[in-house]
Amino acid sequence: MFPGDSDIERAVADLAQTLPEPLRALARIAYDYRWAWSADGAATFRALDPDRWARTGANPRRTLTEMPHARLEQVAGDAAFVARVERLARELRADRERPWLACAASPERPVAFCCAEFGVHGSLPIYSGGLGILAGDILKEASDLALPMVGVGLLYRTGYFHQRIDVTGYQHEYWLDADPERLPCVRVSAGDGQALTVTVPVNGEDVVAQIWRVDVGRVPLYLLDTDRPENSAVGRWITSRLYESNRAIRLAQYAVLGVGGVRALRALGIQPCVHHFNEGHPALGVFELLAHARAGRPAGDDEAAWRRVRDQVVFTTHTPVAAGNETYHRNELLPMLGRVADLAGDHERFLALGRMDSANRDQPSGFTALALRASRQANAVSRRHGEVARAMWQPLFPGRAVEGVPIGHVTNGVHVPTWLQGPMRELLDRHLGAGWLSRADRPETWAAVNDIPAAELWAARCAARQQLVEMVAQRATGDRLRRGEPLAYAQAGGSGFDPGRLTIGFARRLATYKRLHLLAVMPERAVALVAGERPVQFVFAGKAHPDDHEAKEVVRRVFALKGARGVAGRAAFLEDYDIALAGQLVAGCDVWVNLPRPPLEASGTSGMKSVLGGGLQLSVLDGWWAEAYDGGNGWAIDGSVDADHAAQDWRDASALFALLEQQVVPMFHDRDADGVPQRWVAMMRRSLTTHGPRFSAKRMLREYADRVYRRG
Ligand SMILES: *Cc1c(COP(=O)(O)O)cnc(C)c1O
Repeated sequence: MFPGDSDIERAVADLAQTLPEPLRALARIAYDYRWAWSADGAATFRALDPDRWARTGANPRRTLTEMPHARLEQVAGDAAFVARVERLARELRADRERPWLACAASPERPVAFCCAEFGVHGSLPIYSGGLGILAGDILKEASDLALPMVGVGLLYRTGYFHQRIDVTGYQHEYWLDADPERLPCVRVSAGDGQALTVTVPVNGEDVVAQIWRVDVGRVPLYLLDTDRPENSAVGRWITSRLYESNRAIRLAQYAVLGVGGVRALRALGIQPCVHHFNEGHPALGVFELLAHARAGRPAGDDEAAWRRVRDQVVFTTHTPVAAGNETYHRNELLPMLGRVADLAGDHERFLALGRMDSANRDQPSGFTALALRASRQANAVSRRHGEVARAMWQPLFPGRAVEGVPIGHVTNGVHVPTWLQGPMRELLDRHLGAGWLSRADRPETWAAVNDIPAAELWAARCAARQQLVEMVAQRATGDRLRRGEPLAYAQAGGSGFDPGRLTIGFARRLATYKRLHLLAVMPERAVALVAGERPVQFVFAGKAHPDDHEAKEVVRRVFALKGARGVAGRAAFLEDYDIALAGQLVAGCDVWVNLPRPPLEASGTSGMKSVLGGGLQLSVLDGWWAEAYDGGNGWAIDGSVDADHAAQDWRDASALFALLEQQVVPMFHDRDADGVPQRWVAMMRRSLTTHGPRFSAKRMLREYADRVYRRG
C-alpha cells in the first residue's frame, strides 16, 4: 500500500521466525504502534515478560528479541495467552481492512504531515514536548479515521535529552543512543536492496540521508537519518539530537527535514495532495517544491511557479511570541544554506521571504514568515492563539486589518485511546457503549457520563489516584537516592504519599512562561497547603531546555522548599518527564494546574489529557482553557495581560492559592454519608461531558480534513 511495505514484511518475517509458532502473530503486532492504543496491546506485551518490558521502555521489538527462549516457549504453551495474541492480531487486521475516508486525500495522494518531532510512544524517543505529542496524536487519529496520511520527520540517533536533578535542584542532561536496529522500524530499501537515499545540499556538502519507516497504525512515518558512511563527521551528526543547541546544526536539520523531506517523498514515489508543515521547521521544503514547479517552464513566470507551491502547502503555527519564532541572520543562513537558497533563484529573494518586512535587509529571516508566505492556508491552534497570531503577523500582510489577516485556527485535541488509561478507561468502556471511541467527537457519546452513578465515578477516580501514588512512591524514592539525598528524605518519598489525599499535578516543558515559579513566590502559603489540616500533595515534572538557565533556576527555587515541614512526603519532583510519565500523571491527578503567562500558551494539551482521567482543571484563561472554561467545568484564573510581570505573577499566585484554599480543598472534603464528594463528582461530570468531545483529536482532525486539507 505504501512504499517500504516489503521492508516491513521482511522484518516481520525475520522476527516471526525467531518466535515459537503460536506466538508468531506478535511479530506483525510489534512492527505497528497500533497496539499502543488498543485496549489490550500493552498489557499483552507486558504479560510476556514484565521486567524486560519495563527495562526496554516498553519496546516490543526488543522485548521479543531479548527475552529468554525458555520463557517464550512457556508462554507459547499457555492457551489463554495465545488466544489473547490472536484476538489482538485480528483486531489490528480488521482495523487495516476498513475503507479509507472519502476526503481531499486518497491513498494515491495522501496528506504529507511534516514535523521536527513526533511523540508516538515512549520507546521511540524522537519528541520533546507538546508539539511532538500533538504530531503523534494526529498520526494516530488519521489512522483511526482512515484518513490517508504519511508522516515525514527525522530519526534522531540520541533523541531529546534525559534529565537528572542534583541535590541542589540543578538540572543536568545526558543523551542515550536510540539504535534504530532495536526500534520497531525498518530502513526503506531501493529496488537493488540497498538503502534508498536522498541528498541535501548543506554547508558545502551533499549530505546523504537514508529513510526509516515506522508504522503508526495505517499511517507510515518516514524518518530521515544522515548517519551514513558517505557523510563527513558533521554531516553524520546532523540528525543526532532533537533541538540541538548549535544553531548551524539546527539549520542543517531544517534543510534535511524540509528539502530532504520533499525529496524523500519523491524518491518514495509519494505524491502528496498537500504538505502540512506543522510549525516552521520543515518550511525550507518550499524551495524544493519551487525548483520542481519551475522545471520545464519558461523562465520569468515565477508567479505561476509560486502559485503552484502555495497550492501544495498548508501551515500550522504554534508559537505566540516573536522571540519563540527562530530567526537567523544572513551570515548564519548563507554559509549553511547557500545552495538551498540557490533553489529560490537568488539569495536576496531567499532571505526576503523569511523577514517580517521583506524589504528591510537588516532584519533576520525566520521560518514562520516563510511558511506563512508560502502556504495556501495557515492556522493557529486555539481561538485565542488565532487572535494573537493575526495581530503578531499582521505586518506580513500590509493593507489588511488585523481581523483580515489570513490565519484561522483549529483548536488542538488529544488522541483519546492513547490518553484515557486505567480505571477511567475501564469505566467509560463499560458505560459509553460498544465502539464509543469511534464516536468520541460527539457530545451525545459523552452525555452517557451523566448516567454513571456518582459512587462509580468516584471509585474510578480513587483507583486511578492509588495507581499514581504507587508509582510516585517508587520513582520519588529512586530519584532521591540517586541524587544523594539523606535516607529519611528518600524514604519519605516512598511512604508519605497517601492514596486518599487530594493530588495536584503540574508537569510540562519548563519554559519560563509556564510559570512553575508561581508556586514558590508565596512559600508560606504553598507549605501551609501541604502541611495544613487538610493536606494536599503535589507532583511535579518537566524538563528545561539545556540552554534555558533561567528555567533551571526556577526548578532550583522550587526545590529550595523541600526542607520545609511536611513537604518531603507530600511534594515530589519526578525526573525525566516523558510521554509515559505524562500518561501516568494525567491519569492519576485530581487537579491539573496550568499557569502560563498570557497570552503565551498557544493551546496546551496536557490539561485535555487530564480531563479524560476525570481530572479537574485549574488554569489561567489562556490557550485552550480560554475557550473551554464555562464557569462550572473547572477553575479559572484571569487571563488578561499585564506588562508588569512581577505584579501579574503576584496577582495570579494570589488567585491560585485563593482558589485552592477556598474552593478546591473544601469541595474535595465535602463528602456525603457514603464518603462521596457529590459536588466534586458533579464537576467531573460537567468537565468530561463538555471537554471530552470538543478536545478530542477526532474533532480536530475532522476540522483539518474539512477546512484545511480541502481546497476552499
Ligand atoms: C502533553 C504533553 C506535553 C504538553 O503539555 P502542555 O501542558 O500542553 O505544555 C508536553 N510533554 C509531554 C510529554 C506531554 O505528554
